[in-house]
Amino acid sequence: MRIRRSSQVGWCTKSIYGSPGDLLAVFAHPDDEVFRCGGTLALLAQRGVHVQVVTFTRGQAGSCGQPPVCTREELGAVRTAELLCSCRTLGLEPPLVLDYEDGMLAHVVQEEGTARITAYIQTIRPQVLLTWPLHGLSGHPDHAAVSRWTLAAYQQAKRAGVDDLVALYHLAMPDSLARELGLKQLHTLPDNEVTVTVDVQGVWEQKMAAVACHRTQAGESPILRAAPDRQRRFLGREHFHRALALQQDDLLLELGRQKVGI
Ligand SMILES: [Zn+2]
Repeated sequence: MRIRRSSQVGWCTKSIYGSPGDLLAVFAHPDDEVFRCGGTLALLAQRGVHVQVVTFTRGQAGSCGQPPVCTREELGAVRTAELLCSCRTLGLEPPLVLDYEDGMLAHVVQEEGTARITAYIQTIRPQVLLTWPLHGLSGHPDHAAVSRWTLAAYQQAKRAGVDDLVALYHLAMPDSLARELGLKQLHTLPDNEVTVTVDVQGVWEQKMAAVACHRTQAGESPILRAAPDRQRRFLGREHFHRALALQQDDLLLELGRQKVGI
């Protein structure tokens, strides 16, 4: 199926499509792929999982950097290149980037957003979908929109009998960690509802290099100015909620079996 208004940016790679066991991560903006899940995606890629990131916008409403890295007009292209750098650093497939308007995804009709994701599911045949939780974690309306569409696309795929797809995961912030770090602005999850916690210390340098790819956004994340131990506490473990699943096991659950505390 041909998907309009999208482009796969980047370097030559072998075809991944058709192999079960892949992960499709559906996000709104460049940098959504790294802070809360980049280490996990890198660890999965190391295990041979093909990880495909899709973003619905080029992040063109975000910051141009402090001091500015580019003009406002150039920002979409610059952030697309930053996303490419991040995915390459994490060992992921070249990202798929759609040209929706940053900050306006809540105004895109549900059926259209869902159809985009459905088309990717049909082409990529992932085993696992990963996206923002329904409240968007930070409450960002773009994050909430892609989460609603991903849920609808998952349900549609299951109704259509797509066998490869077995689970939908949300990024999660455990209550206890948010309390410890004083993060009051996030929608958190009771600790016992966190399904998978992944210790990403083993790929710490890789994750932080991917974070550094997003040069325009460096001033937007207070955590990057925090003391090293606080940074490690916030970014060194990644948490996921298995929102919907049809079978007992999947590639993310398997990775999370290396049990670590929150
Ligand atoms: Zn975002």
